[in-house]
Amino acid sequence: MSANTRLELTEADLRARELLRDFVPDKVFDAHAHLYAKTPGAAELIDYTYESYCAQMGPMLCDPAVIRINALPHATRNAATPEGRQEENRQIYERLDAAPNCVGCAFVGAGDSRERVEQIVDHPGIKGLKCYAHTTGAANPNACAINEYLPESAWEVANEKKLSIVLHMMRPAALADPENFDQIVTMVKRYPDAKLVLAHCARSFASWTGVETIGKLSHLENVWFDLSAITEPAPMMACIKATAGKRVMWGSDYPITLVRGKVVSINDSFAWITGAACDALSDLFRRYNVKPCFVAQENLLAVRQAALLLDLDRTQVEDIFYNNAMNLYGLKD
Ligand SMILES: [Zn+2]
Repeated sequence: MSANTRLELTEADLRARELLRDFVPDKVFDAHAHLYAKTPGAAELIDYTYESYCAQMGPMLCDPAVIRINALPHATRNAATPEGRQEENRQIYERLDAAPNCVGCAFVGAGDSRERVEQIVDHPGIKGLKCYAHTTGAANPNACAINEYLPESAWEVANEKKLSIVLHMMRPAALADPENFDQIVTMVKRYPDAKLVLAHCARSFASWTGVETIGKLSHLENVWFDLSAITEPAPMMACIKATAGKRVMWGSDYPITLVRGKVVSINDSFAWITGAACDALSDLFRRYNVKPCFVAQENLLAVRQAALLLDLDRTQVEDIFYNNAMNLYGLKD
């Protein structure tokens, strides 16, 4: 598949789109989309750009008139080195130059100095930073605490320049992990002009982790949330309630969510029921006439359910899909 071709929508995908037709606003700001070129040497060079995003996500979003993106780098294996991250950042700058209505985040690594962070944000479209645990070189990145992969230099520069920091928490309990929780509270208080965006509803793929803790951050005005890749309404509702709908932004996690299936909480953990897991369940799906749509669509269906259950009006839905991100990134139409 070339990233620039439109996706083939199956009958099941079209059914999901029908449920979303009157819901997704006409102006969409995706607060969490990865734009990058797949590492040369892969079987096919896949180039994820603003154009490929619009071609592929546009139909799932019911073809909005305006699409803006916060473009994030992607954690390819070579991004563990400063040179690898430099290449990832170069790709982001290139994509922002080609799409001036978008913003982006530069890739900051665990050991990056303050000077280095100042350099990587020195581009007019860069409005934030993105970090990944595997830049620590830790044998098990899933065990990393936040401060191990989000260096204080990033907080200092974000605070000084009023930038966002998009954070994907590690550790199975995410925000319900006491060390993760304490580090967030300490750092957002120490750096009040830095804006921390807790990605994936504070990474609530296991919904209890966010549902039981997100409300405890409601008094911290520089904590924001994006709804990307979550496909259950409960963690989304926790984010909307905690911020009165003002510091919460829809995001797609493009192109990771261009796979059919769903991410489900099971007991105190979660599973991505996609790809091979979906194939393994094909007999069950046939028996119950289950036809999975894209995870990106499951996410939108969950946002719709959260909005219905919280009685959000159209303005509040438009805030989540567009206005809040415009506010965070200081943009005007
Ligand atoms: Zn992501």
